Amino acid sequence: MAEIGVDISKAIRFLNNNQVVGIPTETVYGLAGNALNSTSITQIFEVKNRPTFDPLICHTHQISEIEKYVTRLPTMAYDLFEKFSPGPITILLPRKNIIPDLVTSGLSNVAFRIPKHYLTLELLRNLDFPLAAPSANPFGYISPTTALHVQAQLGSKIPYILQGGDCNIGVESTIIGFYEENKPYILRLGGLKTEEIEKVTGKILVQNSSSKPSAPGMLESHYAPEKKMYFIKRNDIEIQNNTIHLKNFDVFDINEVGFLGFDEYLEKIPKENQIILAENGNIQLAAQRLFGAMRELDKKNIKIIITFGVPTYQIGLAINDRLQRASTYLQ
Ligand code: AMP
Ligand code: MG
Repeated sequence: MAEIGVDISKAIRFLNNNQVVGIPTETVYGLAGNALNSTSITQIFEVKNRPTFDPLICHTHQISEIEKYVTRLPTMAYDLFEKFSPGPITILLPRKNIIPDLVTSGLSNVAFRIPKHYLTLELLRNLDFPLAAPSANPFGYISPTTALHVQAQLGSKIPYILQGGDCNIGVESTIIGFYEENKPYILRLGGLKTEEIEKVTGKILVQNSSSKPSAPGMLESHYAPEKKMYFIKRNDIEIQNNTIHLKNFDVFDINEVGFLGFDEYLEKIPKENQIILAENGNIQLAAQRLFGAMRELDKKNIKIIITFGVPTYQIGLAINDRLQRASTYLQ
């Protein structure tokens, strides 16, 4: 298994040696390697079992570092980094050739961000290269928000995990791209609220790619537990005696069903099979607990997980995006 610790020099040695290590950030834990070195990047893809057409985000500790690896930093991108970094914002920028094709999956833009975690910032300050770091989970599974989550799934494949405690934000960064100079869009909803971004950009388009079929049906899931998840509406379930009827879907025994709720339990479902993200209704707390809760439910002796999602404001939009992607069935 991987060693877990707070020894930055040890992490530096592994990284300088083109090995990959688990790192904490404010969003989720990353699986980090030298972004300029193909051996390291190849390892990231192998350890995660990630298809090479899915590009990686690069991490540095300051804006002037990013400037070394991109051919242009538009004013608006600079302003966004300056206002929100370190923090959960990633921006796509035209790359220099020093960034290997493997990092960007051959695309002409490279994604950069400055993570807000004192250990990882300290690590980045002491390296001569940016870190490419996708989330430290097997491709398609739930992202890790503690060092132990990383250990549980990738521990046998990596030498070291930097222990940085629980992730503060709990969902991935917001990704911004530019159609053209000063015309930004949101490519992925995430930890930084759209309302905040709009203070710099004005009204911004959300081009979030989460698949939302118009008819209820099966989805290809991502960020997903092994148990099948159903993202449905309260009105689309009916509980009678010991069974729960999911409209358009199946009927289950109430003991086979887990529930992931926002601030309220679901009546009749055994309480031990339910996790409420934030009884006090705090949406930020719900985000912090989201991935851990999905992992916990995944371990329970149940067949399926039901969720109604969370309120659709602030980081709630990113939470619902992840829940939709995690679900096999969507109403
Ligand atoms: P993660 O697994 O959270 O690190 O996800 C990284 C995601 O960032 C990818 O799945 C892409 O959606 C996006 N991304 C990273 N680099 C690029 C790029 N060069 N162009 C477009 N999207 C990118
Ligand atoms: Mg990921």
